[in-house]
Amino acid sequence: MNFRFSPEEESFREEVIDFLRPYQNLEGFIQQGEKWTEVKALFCEMAERGWLALAWPEAEGGLGKGIAFEYILWDEFGYARAARNPLAAGIVAKTLIRHGSPQQKERWLPPIRSGELHFSLAYSEPEAGSDLGAVRTRAIREGDEYIIRGEKCWQSYAQDMDCFWLLARTGDLDSRSRGLTLLIVDKESRGLRVEPLPTLDGDQLNAVVFDDVRVPASHRVGPENQAWTIMGEALADERHIQFPTGRLRRDLEDICAWAEARHFTRDSAVRVRLGALAADVREAEMHSLSVLDAMSHGHDAATAAAANKISHTLACQAIARAAMDFGGEYALVEGDRPELLWRLSLWETIGGGTTEVMRSIVARQGLGLGGTR
Ligand SMILES: Cc1cc2nc3c(=O)[nH]c(=O)nc-3n(C[C@H](O)[C@H](O)[C@H](O)COP(=O)(O)OP(=O)(O)OC[C@H]3O[C@@H](n4cnc5c(N)ncnc54)[C@H](O)[C@@H]3O)c2cc1C
Repeated sequence: MNFRFSPEEESFREEVIDFLRPYQNLEGFIQQGEKWTEVKALFCEMAERGWLALAWPEAEGGLGKGIAFEYILWDEFGYARAARNPLAAGIVAKTLIRHGSPQQKERWLPPIRSGELHFSLAYSEPEAGSDLGAVRTRAIREGDEYIIRGEKCWQSYAQDMDCFWLLARTGDLDSRSRGLTLLIVDKESRGLRVEPLPTLDGDQLNAVVFDDVRVPASHRVGPENQAWTIMGEALADERHIQFPTGRLRRDLEDICAWAEARHFTRDSAVRVRLGALAADVREAEMHSLSVLDAMSHGHDAATAAAANKISHTLACQAIARAAMDFGGEYALVEGDRPELLWRLSLWETIGGGTTEVMRSIVARQGLGLGGTR
C-alpha cells in the first residue's frame, strides 16, 4: 500500500482548497437539512467542473480520474465542513455504472452529474435495520409495473430529495437475502408519503410510506431478487466516502483550539488525552486509505470499509466526549462547538450500519469466523 498521493493529486487538493474558500461557513456537512438550498447550489457549481463525476469512466460522462481524486475532494469537503458526498453521485450513480442498463444510465446519470437530481436511500424499516435480509416492503410485479407497499424509516435527507433508491422484497416473505430487488422510485409518485422524524442535532430523518405506489419495471436496477450482491458494493461505497478523515481532523483541531483558549491544556492529562485522539484520527485515516487502496485495485473493499466506519465514528465520538470530560459545564453551552459536536456525533455509530454489525463483518469476512451469513 502506497500512502503517498501523486504530484497531480496533491495539486488537485490545492485546487479544491481554493474552491472551498468561500464556503468556510456553510457547514453543510453537519447541517445539510437546514442548508439544503445552499448545498444544492454548491453541488451544481461543482458539477460545472465535472467534480460530481470525477472518477466515473469518460464513456459514462465522467472525467475518468482515479478514485484518489474523489477521496481528496471529499476529504477536503469534510475538513471545510462544506458538504457530504451526495448519495446520488457517490452511491446511486456508481451502482448504475456497474449494473444499470444503457437506458437507465442515459436517463439518470446526466442529471446526477449536473447536481440537479438527488436521492435518498430507502433500505431500513421499523423491523429491519441491521438485518436488511428482513426487509418486508413488497414490490409485486403487475404487467410492466411493480406495485410497492410497505414502510421505510430513518431516511436521511428524504424531505429534500427527488427519488428513492429502494430495497424491496420481490421474493417470498422468508426468502431473506435471496428475494430482494433495487428500484428507483420518484418521490412525487402517487401513494408515497414522507413523514419527518426529528433528531437530537436539530435536523430530521424521515419515515416513508409506500401505499400501492406504481413503479415502471424499467426502474428496476439489476435482476429481480438479486440485489444482495449489488447492495454489498453500495454499502462499501457508503462506508468509505461518507466518512472522510478531513472531518475528524477538523473536529480535533476545533476541540484543541477550544481547550487551549480556556487553558485546559495547562493540565498534562488533557494534553495526553488530545495526543491520544490525534493517534485515533491517524488510525482512522489509515483505514480510509486502505479502503482506497482496495478499491483502486478492484479488490472487494467491504471488510476494509466496515473497519473504516468503526474507526472513523468511534474517533468522532471520542473527540466530542473528551471535551465533555475535561470541559465539564463549559462544554455544555448549547450551540458552542463541543456541545454541537457531541450531539452530532451520537448517531454516527448507528447510521450506515452499527458498530456491532461492522465488527461482526470484520470478524466474518476479515477473520473468516462464524460462517458467511
Ligand atoms: C442518522 C441516521 C441516518 C440514517 N440514514 C438512513 C438512510 O438514509 N437510509 C436508510 O435506509 N437507513 C438509514 N438509517 C438507518 C440505519 O441504517 C439503521 O438505524 C441501522 O442500520 C441500525 O438499525 P436499527 O436502527 O433498526 O437497529 P437494530 O438493527 O434494531 O439494532 C439495535 C441494536 O442491536 C445491535 N445488533 C443488531 N444486530 C446485531 C448483530 N447481528 N450482532 C450484534 N449486535 C446487533 C445493533 O448494533 C444495535 O445496537 C439511518 C440511521 C441514522 C441513525
